[in-house]
Amino acid sequence: MLAALPLRADFEARWQEIRAGASARELYTLLYALPKGGDIHNHLPGSYFPEQWLRAATDPALKGRADYYTRVRGGGTFNLAAPEPVYPLETIRAAAWRALPEASRADWKPLGELTAAERAAWISQYQIDRPGEGRYTFFAAPRQRLTHLGQDPVVMTELLVETMKLYGAEGVRYLELQASPFTLHTPEGKPIPEDEAAAIYEAALQRPDAKATGVEVRFQITGNRYIADAEAQVVRIFKFLDRHRGRWVGINLAGIEERGTGYPSRFLSTFRDLRRTYADIGISIHAGEMDGPNTHVRDTLLLGASRIGHAVTLIKDPDTLLQMRHRSWLVEINLISNHLLEYTPDLAVHPFPEYLRLGIPVCLNTDDRGWWHSTMTDEYYVAVTRYRLAWSELRQIGRASLAHAFLDPATKARLIAAHDAELDAFERKLAAGNWRDALATVKPVTFGYAARQFGLTFP
Ligand SMILES: [Zn+2]
Repeated sequence: MLAALPLRADFEARWQEIRAGASARELYTLLYALPKGGDIHNHLPGSYFPEQWLRAATDPALKGRADYYTRVRGGGTFNLAAPEPVYPLETIRAAAWRALPEASRADWKPLGELTAAERAAWISQYQIDRPGEGRYTFFAAPRQRLTHLGQDPVVMTELLVETMKLYGAEGVRYLELQASPFTLHTPEGKPIPEDEAAAIYEAALQRPDAKATGVEVRFQITGNRYIADAEAQVVRIFKFLDRHRGRWVGINLAGIEERGTGYPSRFLSTFRDLRRTYADIGISIHAGEMDGPNTHVRDTLLLGASRIGHAVTLIKDPDTLLQMRHRSWLVEINLISNHLLEYTPDLAVHPFPEYLRLGIPVCLNTDDRGWWHSTMTDEYYVAVTRYRLAWSELRQIGRASLAHAFLDPATKARLIAAHDAELDAFERKLAAGNWRDALATVKPVTFGYAARQFGLTFP
């Protein structure tokens, strides 16, 4: 699938000169402008930044959304081990707030009326930004705090279009987003039927400002791997994908792998049964996002996956690692996610460069960038500064993200051709005269991760 790319000796030398001579700001600026292909491992709503949530959920101009209340008192300290943990700054729709007993309603206030300090706390709650925060904070608490916001079709689609704009500005042309057509609700809290939900997402993608981004979007649906009825959920997802081909292109499974009930081989007979009925459903599954050695990547390939999310533990499974060399199975790398959720607390020893240089197809992705407060540029910046990526490797990574996308052949060919042309033009600009001149008008957008980890902010 992934054609070998000729090593462009001419530009390779120029790139090495740039990489060695550029300041941190200059290198970041170049990588912001770099055409990057696709981000194909990326969750909704986890990709939305907390500031975006706050704005959209309180914007009077945004018609049809629910109003929201946030718990500002009585939340106590978050304790995951409590039988019914109470989530500080949990945010719920007004209809749910009205249904609370009168005594507890006083603990909440309208989201739009938070003080500056409360807003800052709210924003920090929806980020992994403080010492001691890591995977358990992420997997457990944020979900419940945000549930109702993530069910609001108006907020979700408004932020989808905003997200396309942010990606388009940083040179990303394709998004394969993990979204759910099963969870949207009306402002009164009534579930919206799944086909109607699909139509709501479709309408957002047809908005002129969405189309103007030039970003192509497809959706995957992600099941929760460890719940009791996970198999039934997989069946439901396959049926939905079969009815909505073209836009909804793949199934995924996620959730803490260490939890005993979410192991991949649990699903083997379910996927085999479904393959008797359904052809050509994209399968990409989180696997090997763990600490210890295990066979989860191998077991997930057996499920029929052609792409693996994370595969951090693949490095500890030599037989499968060797199998994946020169195959057409891709690993979706998520450097910043692995860093902040402590699967590789030290990015210096992340297996990504080993996979890349062993010939395993890899691409860079952002996973839940809203929680990391990061961007695709940050992922590239980490990769280039930590692992000294060659220019041919940068080209290879971007191309792999499109070559392995769950796209119809015609769209895939069109996106790859456009990506190659964009990269060629980018090379020509940097090759001519002083490369710094080519970047003079580039204005990077950075968030908390770049400020905290690289010391980089742009006005
Ligand atoms: Zn993920």
